[in-house]
Amino acid sequence: GALPPGGSVDAWVRAAHARYAPDDAGTVADYIPVLAHADPAWFGLSVVGVDGRVHQAGDTGIRFTIQSISKAFVFALACEAIGHERVHERIGVNNTGLAFNSVIAVELNGGSPMNPMVNAGAIATTALLPGSDAEERWSAVRDGLSRFAGRDLVLDDEVYRSESGANHRNRAIAQLLHSYGRLDADAEESVDVYTRQCSLAVDAHDLAIMGATLADGGVNPVTGEQVVSAEVCRDTLAVLASCGLYERSGEWLFEIGLPAKSGVSGGIVAVAPGKGAVGAFSPRLDAAGNSVRGQRACAYLSRALGLNLFASA
Ligand code: GLU
Repeated sequence: GALPPGGSVDAWVRAAHARYAPDDAGTVADYIPVLAHADPAWFGLSVVGVDGRVHQAGDTGIRFTIQSISKAFVFALACEAIGHERVHERIGVNNTGLAFNSVIAVELNGGSPMNPMVNAGAIATTALLPGSDAEERWSAVRDGLSRFAGRDLVLDDEVYRSESGANHRNRAIAQLLHSYGRLDADAEESVDVYTRQCSLAVDAHDLAIMGATLADGGVNPVTGEQVVSAEVCRDTLAVLASCGLYERSGEWLFEIGLPAKSGVSGGIVAVAPGKGAVGAFSPRLDAAGNSVRGQRACAYLSRALGLNLFASA
């Protein structure tokens, strides 16, 4: 079935926003220096159905950098380009149970990047995109994510420069993968493309459209464009279910029952296959890096709109 009738979705989205707006738990990320400038009060919620209808409340037009949420969509582009088998073999699809930027996870697993939602796996996934150099891979990322969003996404140069000056750990991860023969492009260039992909500016509404495209078998419900195949959406959503919320992925699935991806600037996209998606944005994070208001609002909407995949009634 689809989402409930439009008027009631509007009311539930407004109710979720009103309920969690006063909630000030969590802290704004500061390990990428400019992220600390975010206003902790920002809170936007957008729901887009596979019918293209939009339901929103709060700060849905405030732009923020997509950060780790890019990993979901770049993974989809890589699957589309090189196929299920090769992505499975080169990257992997199991949760590490460790932090998103863990070096030890690579070491403990014989050099495997483990899954595309941790930094090691995301950098290795970016390196798998077709293209003869970093510029061509970056174009593939920007164009592909723009097709998911249905508009031309633009780099936030300030965040890109801030993260580029502070990403020693990601460069170490890329060099480590290279030493194991697990990186299909130059290490420094792959980190640079990855850092740019994380610095694309989006808003909560963009996230909802991007997620709704995954919910809709790869067809963007607003532009009508087939961005990736239905099989690629299925594979991407499976990885999001097991790995999308950092080391809290199990708790998220237990409480909310939807494939989703979060990022450290406070975005979350949660996908209800065949129905639509929620895009949430609020910068205060839990200890794993997930938006606190975003998670609570998604839990509320999952219950109110009957989205939990595991619920038979
Ligand atoms: N660009 C960030 C990093 O690589 C992404 C982190 C995140 O959103 O989890 O550290």
